[in-house]
Amino acid sequence: MHRVANFTSSVMAQLHAANLREHGIMAGVIDASISAITPIYNAAIARGQYELVISTKRAHDRALELIDELERNPPIIDESWEDETIPDLSLLSKEHVPACPSCNTWLCVSRPLGPCIKCGASYNMERMIFDQHGPDALAVCYEQTEPLSNLTNEEICSIDLDCPSCSYPLDGLPLESHCPECGAWFNRRDLFRNILNPN
Ligand SMILES: [Zn+2]
Ligand SMILES: [Zn+2]
Repeated sequence: MHRVANFTSSVMAQLHAANLREHGIMAGVIDASISAITPIYNAAIARGQYELVISTKRAHDRALELIDELERNPPIIDESWEDETIPDLSLLSKEHVPACPSCNTWLCVSRPLGPCIKCGASYNMERMIFDQHGPDALAVCYEQTEPLSNLTNEEICSIDLDCPSCSYPLDGLPLESHCPECGAWFNRRDLFRNILNPN
């Protein structure tokens, strides 16, 4: 796992992670104050700091661009949102992602309430999906126990990943195997589950 940014708001960090995932970068959020897998490595990280992590350092520059883009035109946040209550819309099946009700542009899953990146309209993506496809389409967004279960092994293998021990790129290797560089065992689904649901 590779750290790209820190946020004070967990909701904002989660929306950034969803934005990166929507753009093909496996990303998740670690609560640095309570995480067992990321020891607090720096006293400067205060309680309540949320770290945005990605599965490969090769995506670092692209991730920073996407973070910057989202910060320049930030999504609408509902004050009542907590970690557990935002649906992870990046887990939606692609055919269930709706278009903007005003300009018909494809919506971004990191903007559940807008504003639309093209026309600035606000909307409620969750309600639109519910109305258009029913509750089953949304169920996958609340699935905390087995994230990415809707992806095939082939799709999982196509997501860039570095060896968790030595950072060697694991391109072209199977779902689970040994790192050719350091010999560490890896399982892509387990590693992505740790990134998506680390605490
Ligand atoms: Zn629009
Ligand atoms: Zn390795």
